[in-house]
Amino acid sequence: MKTGRGGFRMLRREQLLQEVVHDTYKLPRKLAEPARCSECAAVFRDGRWKWSSAGGAGPAHEVLCPACQRIRDDFPAGFVHVSGEFFAQHRDEILALVRHCEETEKRNHPLERIMKVADDSGGVLVTTTGVHLARRIGDALEDGYKGSLEFHYNKEEQLLRVAWRR
Ligand SMILES: [Zn+2]
Repeated sequence: MKTGRGGFRMLRREQLLQEVVHDTYKLPRKLAEPARCSECAAVFRDGRWKWSSAGGAGPAHEVLCPACQRIRDDFPAGFVHVSGEFFAQHRDEILALVRHCEETEKRNHPLERIMKVADDSGGVLVTTTGVHLARRIGDALEDGYKGSLEFHYNKEEQLLRVAWRR
């Protein structure tokens, strides 16, 4: 994983919102429309990725969407480290909240998905295909359980590290 690089800055939540919202669901490159992801069937139309409602009728260019590309490359955009004694005691409940965040976010934003939930130094590391989901998970944990929350954002590469601890 290419995560050891510099360029991460710690931000307050308000700063983060400004910076990340500015980059909202930005697309890295232009695509011919409509395009359909050969992996997850998300459809790119009118400059956005959507879940196709009608089974994707009509011809579309076959591509790999940015989320599936990240999954294939094992190159997450968001890293959420969850740890602490309280977490250890309420692990299942807290991870269910994390999953719930994904379901909610993914419904309207196909590029925001959880990649992996893996044990990691004293807790769990959740990796995501999008920075918005990582931010949402951090917010939801703080809203639900207090604890301490930190955001580190690498604007150049649009990578977000979130650390929640309780
Ligand atoms: Zn896809």
